[in-house]
Amino acid sequence: MKCSIGESFQSGSIAPFGNLELSPCCTLLNYGQGLFEGLKAYRKEDGKVQLFRPEQNALRMQTGAERLCMPSPSVEQFLHAVKQTVIANKRWVPPPGRGSMYIRPLLMGMGPALGLGPSPNYMFLVFASPVGDYYDKGGKSMNLLVEDKHRRASPGGTGSIKTVANYSPVLNAQARAKAQGFSDVLFLDAATGKYIEEVSACNIFIVKDKVISTPETAGTILPGITRKSIIQLALMLGYKVEERLIPVEELLDADEVFCTGTAVVVTPVSSVTHQGRRVEYKQSQGETPVNKKLCKTLTGIQMGRIDDKMGWMVQVD
Ligand code: PMP
Repeated sequence: MKCSIGESFQSGSIAPFGNLELSPCCTLLNYGQGLFEGLKAYRKEDGKVQLFRPEQNALRMQTGAERLCMPSPSVEQFLHAVKQTVIANKRWVPPPGRGSMYIRPLLMGMGPALGLGPSPNYMFLVFASPVGDYYDKGGKSMNLLVEDKHRRASPGGTGSIKTVANYSPVLNAQARAKAQGFSDVLFLDAATGKYIEEVSACNIFIVKDKVISTPETAGTILPGITRKSIIQLALMLGYKVEERLIPVEELLDADEVFCTGTAVVVTPVSSVTHQGRRVEYKQSQGETPVNKKLCKTLTGIQMGRIDDKMGWMVQVD
């Protein structure tokens, strides 16, 4: 879909995957006027395909667009484009238990602006690809390195939106961590460097004495849709959940640590390393970890095995 500022988005069409034509002066390339979203379509046992909370992605894109001075598609337009993309690629949605279809909506400034300013026109597009598990190596758990050198987001910045510009500053830290054998990096807050914030592309939770805590989003952390859903499910399952500042020391002292996100769903963290100190999280014998219970409930809803009481799932056909 295309639009100019002050105009609404014109309806687009399904096209084969291919390259785009961009002006070298476009604001996406020059000033980072770009946003993306990520969501998944799941195939149920009966063959039908459903989306997980897609309207939440549409709303998050609207918030981000406002921050970056961009127009955004309406929730209806967003949902229509996502559904049409999934329907056109339905045969590629993997069968239950074999993965899902990852959907990537993009909103970008296409028009030229040589001096700093917003683009005169925009494009919204959606592409999709079948995916398996994000962390398919190492027994589906993550070993994290707490990043000391770089910060991901600063107060008043863009950490809480899904702008393309948030991701390249993460790559250097991630590459250093991966070179040392870690699965990913955990970022600390920019203001003090004392509190945990989030991993490159997922939110973090800790569990201590059965109480679940996660950093409050407070403008520097992406308000993950999985994060929000896990908080709701945990409360329904009777857990106490706290959204607050979490010092690194508490992370190192936790009983359990796990990450949430569209890609990772709910993935346990097996170890965290901070300033050379490595902490391994061991589960007590015979007890099902909190993250496993939450993961089972969430994936049960997504795959249509558990009744969707919250009305989260949206059928595409
Ligand atoms: N934080 C960051 C930086 C992310 O890129 C993502 C992935 N979108 C998340 C958290 C998790 O968000 P969600 O649950 O909506 O996928």
